[in-house]
Amino acid sequence: MEYSEEEFLSIAGLQHFAFCRRQWALAYLEMQWNENLRTAEGHILHENAHDSFSAEKRGDRIISRGMSVFSRRLGVNGVCDIVEFHASPHGVPIFGREGKWLPVPVEYKRGSPKENDADRLQLCCQAMCLEEMLLCGEIPKAYLYYGETARRTAVPLDEALRGKVAAMLSEMHELSRRNYTPRVKPTKSCNACSLKGLCLPKLCRGGSAADYLKKRLEEFS
Ligand code: SF4
Repeated sequence: MEYSEEEFLSIAGLQHFAFCRRQWALAYLEMQWNENLRTAEGHILHENAHDSFSAEKRGDRIISRGMSVFSRRLGVNGVCDIVEFHASPHGVPIFGREGKWLPVPVEYKRGSPKENDADRLQLCCQAMCLEEMLLCGEIPKAYLYYGETARRTAVPLDEALRGKVAAMLSEMHELSRRNYTPRVKPTKSCNACSLKGLCLPKLCRGGSAADYLKKRLEEFS
């Protein structure tokens, strides 16, 4: 099965979905994104990594910044912070360069490595997009760079992680098709959630987040 471009979901949504399905639905289906310090800091780090698309050669690598990627099989698109092309027999030819080059995504994150899979899932999804787009061999590992530690960590892109990406996206597409925001049990993670002001009143009192927002606006009119 292949998804059409109209059905594409954002790769960045995977990390939100992994954190909380409801947060993803509020942010991406109901578009209730609440920009707090946490997300703003993340955006600044991303802006530095993205700028606009560019490529340069550094030693035995070609570094590409802000590369757009997509997968029709997974139904996603997004932008990679950095894709490094490493000389490899499993890679693809690049115009004007000798040999073959394997794409290796590098994703920039604010903070330090997380205990959950959120960042690894997003990174793995980028690699799966690159494999499909460029018809290259399997990308065995990619890298996460964390702002707090200023170090990058290798992430093996194994079958388990790839299967999790595909399963999550399938569930996200199903929720998107039904335009349905799931209800979940509040947990201690809610304290760090940028959407708790919109979400928790709804979970606690019932009604939609949009209704809550409307009521609040009416109070001030
Ligand atoms: S407040 Fe809690 S339940 Fe609501 S979206 Fe955030 S993490 Fe999920």
